[in-house]
Amino acid sequence: MDSQRREFAERVLQWFDRHGRKDLPWQQSISPYRVWVSEIMLQQTQVATVIPYYARFMARFPDLASLADAPQDEVLHHWSGLGYYARARNLHRAAQQVRDEHGGVFPETMAAVGALPGVGRSTAGAILSLALGQHWPILDGNVKRVLARYFAVPGWPGQAAVLKRLWSLSEQLTPAARVADYNQAMMDLGATLCTRARPDCGRCPLGGGCQARAQGDVQAYPGRRPRKDLPVRAVQMLILHDPAGRVLLQQRPPAGIWGGLWGFPELALEASVEAWCADNLGGVVGMDRALAARRHTFSHFHLDIHPIKILLKEPGCRVMEGAGQVWYNPAQPDARGLAAPVARLLQEIQPVNEETP
Ligand code: SF4
Repeated sequence: MDSQRREFAERVLQWFDRHGRKDLPWQQSISPYRVWVSEIMLQQTQVATVIPYYARFMARFPDLASLADAPQDEVLHHWSGLGYYARARNLHRAAQQVRDEHGGVFPETMAAVGALPGVGRSTAGAILSLALGQHWPILDGNVKRVLARYFAVPGWPGQAAVLKRLWSLSEQLTPAARVADYNQAMMDLGATLCTRARPDCGRCPLGGGCQARAQGDVQAYPGRRPRKDLPVRAVQMLILHDPAGRVLLQQRPPAGIWGGLWGFPELALEASVEAWCADNLGGVVGMDRALAARRHTFSHFHLDIHPIKILLKEPGCRVMEGAGQVWYNPAQPDARGLAAPVARLLQEIQPVNEETP
């Protein structure tokens, strides 16, 4: 394995020297903080999407202290559109943990970095290797794909035994020298050549020894997650807008879907909108209209959203602003995190807001 291992790493590093990405924003002024934020953003999101978000995030939160001290709403606002908001909440909590438990200095040991909210073994390895050159293997989605194909590892990486095998391969292959370049190169290889749908084996530096390629069945690796039909849930979202065009938003509970983000009041599909309005708004409701239903898919269920736009005859009414509730002006948006379907619905109803009551 030793010579095979050395050759694997050499090929990867030679490719990196010629083709690897070296001008990404988080590769400039490298620090654990900057690499950490990029690694969290890059989970489940492609580089091209992340770049503008990263630039805005860093402009507002240039260091750990500014992130730790910011209100959660502002952090979520800067995450709006990136999805998987638990990442942003964890990032914020982790910054506060570093401020409170590590004197504001980003920790530099695997145990301490791995203990931060939202940081798993691979992310911790990436932070410590890319930012500090420490010798840690990584195994993100891209690296899993490259290794599963190169060694023709059968099975879905979500299964413990498959994951263990891939970790073991990553540990054995990660070289002692140039670990940052090697880890970056493996992530780049997976993102640019060994892609999920159309791997470019002809240009791959590992093409000569790749077992999946030799089998002529690259798409068989990594194995797919066993199919399971996602359950469907459905809600009505009430878009209550007043004559001034302001829309009532409520902050969602901190845990659960879109935790901490702002959204419309919701009620069960079978619940009566009329009864809800009578109970919550008194006699100030004008016309209402159902908008087209839409589906938002989470990793574990589909959410069918049935939006209903309700015009209020007068502002204020019984729905007062307070903790967790605000009259939001879509024409003058402020810094608050909105769930993606809510942001889209606010855009959709913009012209309607100009209607006279
Ligand atoms: S040869 Fe093809 S399948 Fe194998 S690692 Fe390279 S790009 Fe991936």
